[in-house]
Amino acid sequence: MQIVWGTVLAVTACSSALALQDEDQQAQRRQFLGRPGELDPQEEEARCVVDGINMCGYETHKQMIGRLRNIEQRNPNIAKIGSIGTSVKGKPLVYLKLSGNVNRRSLMEPMVKYVGNMHGNEVVSRQVLIYLAEYLANGYGRDGRITRLLNTTEIFLLPTLNPDGFEISREGSCDNNRLGRENANRVDLNRNFPRQFDEPQNDLRRLRNGREPETLAAMDWITRNPFVLSANLHAGAVVASYPFDDSPRHRTTGFYSASPDDRTFKYLAQVYARNHREMHKNVRCTRADDFPGGITNGAKWYDVPGGMQDFNYIHSNAMEITLELSCCKHPPASSLPRHWLDNKNALIAYIEQTQSGVKGVVMDINGSPVSGAKVSVVGINRDVKTTGAGEYWKVLPPGQYRLVARGDGGSSREVEVSVDGKDPAIVNLTLQ
Ligand code: ZN
Repeated sequence: MQIVWGTVLAVTACSSALALQDEDQQAQRRQFLGRPGELDPQEEEARCVVDGINMCGYETHKQMIGRLRNIEQRNPNIAKIGSIGTSVKGKPLVYLKLSGNVNRRSLMEPMVKYVGNMHGNEVVSRQVLIYLAEYLANGYGRDGRITRLLNTTEIFLLPTLNPDGFEISREGSCDNNRLGRENANRVDLNRNFPRQFDEPQNDLRRLRNGREPETLAAMDWITRNPFVLSANLHAGAVVASYPFDDSPRHRTTGFYSASPDDRTFKYLAQVYARNHREMHKNVRCTRADDFPGGITNGAKWYDVPGGMQDFNYIHSNAMEITLELSCCKHPPASSLPRHWLDNKNALIAYIEQTQSGVKGVVMDINGSPVSGAKVSVVGINRDVKTTGAGEYWKVLPPGQYRLVARGDGGSSREVEVSVDGKDPAIVNLTLQ
């Protein structure tokens, strides 16, 4: 009932033009919502409660943490709060992990993350990730799709990577607004990661030197955990942008910089855009924007050296795309329910893609798991490395593939596998 109530409200919610002045309309609405009697004093607030979630305004960093902590306290078996580090001004960079049996890791359960608000003035992502956390926690055990998602996936939601920037950003500032974009040291975090075409990439310890605390926290989080899938959420356009963001010659725009997994990335971007209410329609926030199907190669749009997206791909197994969620970077709070509803299904459908592809364990001839073995798909010039428990995951669009593992103990047979896009194909590989 609560979900229906929220969804109905959402159609008109929070728009200031909403006021249903007509008595009949109000009565009708009360009946429709199944709420007897007069509208209660909290009616005003209820207008921006969607899916049972309060979307009535932006909260401070402290309030946001309080909200996440509250989810954890109410759902100790499926929600766990954590921090990846601190901002320049010492604010904790907090995430919420959501998963069935959240306190222990299950073998072969893929990890997925969303990182919002790394540009502190691009705030829609911060809000929708808070709402997603509540939506998933509330839906567990009640909604089949969400229950399945949490039982098969470890979901990490980090609503803000730049809380200091967010603190000075101003509600209602749409474009030409850079206040809060950078961190407190006035560094653009999405230019502060190692530049894959300009710096030698083999020594991660050296690459850590001189980075901003927020960048370092993200780098360590990315490289120390076996994330499979990821998205980096921004604003200022409405598009799903996929690697590479950077190209060897840094041509400002128009150069398609393909990664070895180009086909998969394009597929992943399409999944998000098609499941978003507007993105697939080629939304043009500026005259220059032109994104057929709502997707673009990052560098083709414009060159981004030192971005987080490419870092994920170069230094981990995580496939990360960049999602631009709204034309206006810091829209009025009254638009938050609309942004949530625009993105809700896409956010969930994207996480579900961790189940598209193949996964398994690489073993030696004695059946012991092999850590650090390389698994490759024939035709894709990019391996994934197995975890300490020998696990691997490879996200792939539906189709037929051949894969092989290599490690200290030799090579596996080449195995043929069929990917259906719904359930992961499980292929254990033995080195011999
Ligand atoms: Zn941005």
